Amino acid sequence: MNYFIEVIVPLSLPKTFTYRVSESEFDFIKKGMRIAVPFGKSKIYTALVIDLHQTPPTLYEAREIDQILDEKPIVNELQINHWFWIASYYMCNIGDVYRGALPSALLLESETIISQNKDSFVDENELANDEFLIYEALQHQSSLKVQDIVDILNKKTVLPVIQKLLSKNIISLQEEIQEEYKPKLIRYIRLHENYLAEEKLIALLDSLRSDKQKNVVLQYFQLQATDKKPISVKQITELSSAAVVKGLIEKGIFEEYFIQEDRVNFDKNKIENELSLSDAQNEAFVEIKKTFEDKEVTLLHGVTSSGKTEIYTKLIEDYIAKGKQVLYLLPEIALTTQLVSRLTAHFGNKVAVFHSKYSNNERVEVWNNVNQNSEAAQIVIGARSALFLPFSNLGLIIVDEEHEQTFKQQDPAPRYHARDAAIVLANAHQAKVLLGSATPSIETYYNASSGKFGLVSLTERFGKVQMPEIELVDLKDSYFRKKMKGHFSLKLIEEITEAFANGEQVILFQNRRGFSPVLECMTCGHVPQCPQCDVSLTYHKYKNQLRCHYCGYSMAKPTNCHVCSSVDLETKGFGTEQIEMELAELFPKKNIKRMDQDTTRGKYSFEKIIDGFKNREIDVLVGTQMLAKGLDFDNVSLVGIMNADNMLYHPDFRAFERSFQMMTQVAGRSGRAEKRGKVIIQTYNPLHNIIQQVTNNDYEGMYKEQLYERKIYYYPPFYRVIRLTLKHRDFEKLKEGSMWLYQVLQQNLAIPVLGPEEPAIGRIRNEYIRTIMVKIPGDASLQGTKKTIQKILNSFDLVSQYRAIKVTVNVDFY
Ligand code: ADP
Ligand code: ZN
Ligand code: ZN
Repeated sequence: MNYFIEVIVPLSLPKTFTYRVSESEFDFIKKGMRIAVPFGKSKIYTALVIDLHQTPPTLYEAREIDQILDEKPIVNELQINHWFWIASYYMCNIGDVYRGALPSALLLESETIISQNKDSFVDENELANDEFLIYEALQHQSSLKVQDIVDILNKKTVLPVIQKLLSKNIISLQEEIQEEYKPKLIRYIRLHENYLAEEKLIALLDSLRSDKQKNVVLQYFQLQATDKKPISVKQITELSSAAVVKGLIEKGIFEEYFIQEDRVNFDKNKIENELSLSDAQNEAFVEIKKTFEDKEVTLLHGVTSSGKTEIYTKLIEDYIAKGKQVLYLLPEIALTTQLVSRLTAHFGNKVAVFHSKYSNNERVEVWNNVNQNSEAAQIVIGARSALFLPFSNLGLIIVDEEHEQTFKQQDPAPRYHARDAAIVLANAHQAKVLLGSATPSIETYYNASSGKFGLVSLTERFGKVQMPEIELVDLKDSYFRKKMKGHFSLKLIEEITEAFANGEQVILFQNRRGFSPVLECMTCGHVPQCPQCDVSLTYHKYKNQLRCHYCGYSMAKPTNCHVCSSVDLETKGFGTEQIEMELAELFPKKNIKRMDQDTTRGKYSFEKIIDGFKNREIDVLVGTQMLAKGLDFDNVSLVGIMNADNMLYHPDFRAFERSFQMMTQVAGRSGRAEKRGKVIIQTYNPLHNIIQQVTNNDYEGMYKEQLYERKIYYYPPFYRVIRLTLKHRDFEKLKEGSMWLYQVLQQNLAIPVLGPEEPAIGRIRNEYIRTIMVKIPGDASLQGTKKTIQKILNSFDLVSQYRAIKVTVNVDFY
């Protein structure tokens, strides 16, 4: 009989592969287990079983597997189906989804790395010549690949030599996939059972000559009596010394044992009492539940500071009580700290966190807890990738700040939108989805107003605090009347001064980081450009550098113009760094901190700034859009938006929508506690519709206007747009290739195809870029169109002169 398994390999390949297994392996293996399989010439990969069958492959001879890595499935069928949906909808390979879904510790692939076995003794005289050469090479470098050995020995058949060294235990292969995950173990001690009886114990105490040792034994008993919990070595050494405890262990009086502890531990002792919702919140809560009777998805449109988190919490309670799993998706992992403390305060140890800044081990732990449907991961908080966890029993998915663009993965594939993929996942679990936002995306609000989603609105802030008062400062007029100091209007300075006088804090928003965007030669007008990208370099004063925000290229600030040698160079435009500096001159005694990509690189740097601000050590926070993301402060009375205009004029169909969202969200950080907040928006366009809509808190007005534009310009929600991006170092070849592709698409699709267009930044890292858009109307077949596009892309790949052009497909790229 033939026995085969069908697996996904973690490579960007569209197909699954068939491997041969023995009958007993066949009986043991289940869908969702990982199997190490040979692939290609000499590589081993962690593959995932998705099927067991008896049909041999027709195009190749099935190889045997290397080994079975799991005893039980670590992935379930709902997940596998969901991954295939992602691959199909977002036009990527199933291998891409698999690789993106699993924490890398569960996904070791081998390049057959050889290293020396450090704990074995080597007698060099015993080694044959070939063996010695490899051994010697390993004295100079810690590891070698098979190919290196081929080079060193200058012959093809090196495996027998490697085999010999292996059998002599001199080297080891990392190819033998090792579980990298090591649970964290806590060391505990207990009294050896010989001394448990009272008279034995008394005899023991008498026999101990060292007072210190006697003392430790007595303290052990005291701890045991007050607190019936296991006693850790750490606890007991704190009361004496490590040497004394060690002595007792060596004598066999104490014995050590280990208990695995979950790495990610929060303060789990403070469970809050009953949560009481305000009347408005309660109404929204009841309404959400009602919409769930006949809708799968509901939008909670609640103004900033309306207390959406409390409503989510109340809703989570319901699902927890029913024994269901809950997934809580956040746009930004930096926000988790605030939320985790709020949720653990309520749900204690049922809350787990999953995100990319956690170590591999921590992520594997959450993975396993979810897989076992364990209570420790009944509520999972995470950024978009948490969607891939092995849920088997989901009841509810919350997508907080659903409008945020970070929910969409841009690179690498799978380029999925976590909100949309969450809705599909929930469907498979027959779970509900709650989307929350003060500024919903146009698409979501469209779905909600058309009845596809439920819609619940919450229009008052918690505690009936008024919405912030927004005041516009006309920059043109202010410069003209000399009512400006640097980039600060006198009005803004006045308001900041008043906030300080009241002991309140201030947030200033500037959409650009760095000191000022560009350095311009006043003689010839030259602006230094990135040598690898088509963008101007940004001036960073603190480091006295010019930097490229696209590829990271940097150079020292030049003293004279590279073109005309003039020394008359001036900075134009302004960023967060310059605001910070001007502010320091205006208010030298105040503590000013900047929050942008440059200051938040470290693991906890974001949290540090937030904590400092919450604890009121920081008076003013100057930052980029990071400030707009759902942070909750209680002493901010003033928000200043330094320049509203550069957001508005982005070459993007969403620019107006996003400007509205960003300004409304930043404004929402003002006046959270009991006092009404103030917002100053500095702009050259005070009459611009978006600025007016922000000022009047007019989401509906913005929505209607944008929806109209979307309709006449063929954008979502009326059309879905697929963007093809082509890249190549050779400008002419790229131009030709993209024209070819455009024409073939145009001829084969009866829908709008646009391009090939040179994007705003036409070259990044020395690669030229062209884009093509395919716009699919609501009534056209999505599947059919994608199939045609895929077919055309396959044939594009076969045209020899275009093969080297990289094409990426981004479905719903927005
Ligand atoms: P949103 O996410 O809608 O902007 P939050 O959920 O952050 O608003 O709530 C704003 C503030 O009001 C928070 O400080 C929160 O603790 C507080 N708050 C909201 N609802 C309640 C409630 N029912 N009881 C006590 N405090 C609440
Ligand atoms: Zn010049
Ligand atoms: Zn660059």
